[in-house]
Amino acid sequence: MKTRFWMTLVLSLLLAVSWAGAEEIAGLPLHIEKLDDGVIRLWLGDHISSTTTFAFATEKGIVVVDTFGVPEVDSQLRQAIARELGRSDFTYLINTHEHGDHTGGNAVYADCTIVGHELIAAGMAEAAANRERMLAWFPERIAAIEAELQSLGAGAPEAAALKEDLILNRLNFRAVEAAAEQAPPNLTFSDRMTLDLGDTTFELSYIGGMHTSSDTAILVPEHGLLLTGDTMADVWLTDTPGCLASFSVRSGVQHDFPRMLANWDRLLADRERITTLMPAHWNGELSIEGAEARVEYVRSLWNAVNQAAEAGQGIQAVLAENQLAARFPSLAESPGFSAQGNHASITELWREASGQASAARTVFELLGEGADEEAIRQVLADRGSESPGYFFFEAEFNAYGYAFLQQDRVDEAVRMFEINVELFPDSWNTYDSLGEALLRRGETDEAAAMYEKSLALNPESPSGREALATIKGGAST
Ligand SMILES: [Zn+2]
Repeated sequence: MKTRFWMTLVLSLLLAVSWAGAEEIAGLPLHIEKLDDGVIRLWLGDHISSTTTFAFATEKGIVVVDTFGVPEVDSQLRQAIARELGRSDFTYLINTHEHGDHTGGNAVYADCTIVGHELIAAGMAEAAANRERMLAWFPERIAAIEAELQSLGAGAPEAAALKEDLILNRLNFRAVEAAAEQAPPNLTFSDRMTLDLGDTTFELSYIGGMHTSSDTAILVPEHGLLLTGDTMADVWLTDTPGCLASFSVRSGVQHDFPRMLANWDRLLADRERITTLMPAHWNGELSIEGAEARVEYVRSLWNAVNQAAEAGQGIQAVLAENQLAARFPSLAESPGFSAQGNHASITELWREASGQASAARTVFELLGEGADEEAIRQVLADRGSESPGYFFFEAEFNAYGYAFLQQDRVDEAVRMFEINVELFPDSWNTYDSLGEALLRRGETDEAAAMYEKSLALNPESPSGREALATIKGGAST
């Protein structure tokens, strides 16, 4: 009897320890970290770039920031928060921005006031309109991960990360299939808002226009915390940074650069109130110096495009003077920066400063949706007009041509490169790219003619020489 008692006790203690050490939600390890008295953050997984949920115990109730994005997971996270804080008076849910991996679990907090930027609802509606595409995409993605897992030997180091990725994709797919109820914020703001919870205040500032239209910084001065959403990180803890991967201005996002910069300046001027900056995914970190450098980077580009637009210069001058490695050497190797991202940022900033749209992007979209030649001609006719509505940039047309090639849309790629040849007939590279696309379409003679034109303009071009040698070698056999 006695022995059995001790055995039962030891066994139950062992079970309790192993359960506490390996608590899971939906098959993913749950992490709970105490940041300060009454402040915790929770996330799932050791490898995937999942969202961090923050929870604050305040005098006037529990305040949660961001959801995992999957209602079945978020109801369990809500229970874990209640257990950890020893109370369940949930009062507010705040969203850092509109993305589904932050707002998808909002309905689990439908009994609370849901707080966020006024543009979050539109962003959520746009994502919901994409449902059909996501329903088609997820099974393909899931099958690809399953195939990759099968091809790896058991115990391969990459397998652990893939398994988590598989679970995450299955969870997201189920959520899309279920068409879960959307719960956009019912308390919104446009520039700044303060929530007073007695012993704790939440100062919300718009910092949107880079990652999404609705990015929000949340300063909680009593805890020295600045939550920065998905806008930036200067350390990546995993090699799959996910949403934090790119620090650049996304197109299709509403911008207000002067307001965003002013709000960042105000936040960073109060730096004695900030002890820790925290991105909204667990696998990113951010220092105050990293944030300052990123804000200064955007300011430099914003000033450069405005000065160039006022001086009547073109975007080419701005791009040439603001190449990442040459102009911003200390940021070139920093997480989130790339030459393409820098180019995309300048293009988008230019669009905002000059009021001109990218002709290459517009033509890319028109070709992509199968628009007729007349629509394309209308865009091209704008070139050289007195007040052009578009800017024409050779490298951009070229890049979009390759984007079509990557999608195996060879006809559209050929058309894109033909337009670039028409616009920039003195550039050897436009003929070289067109040659490559024609070759992909099996039009060897036409391709050879293009490579010859390219070589006439740039006899040293190795790609042209190699391609011609291959074509001629192939033709002679
Ligand atoms: Zn995001």
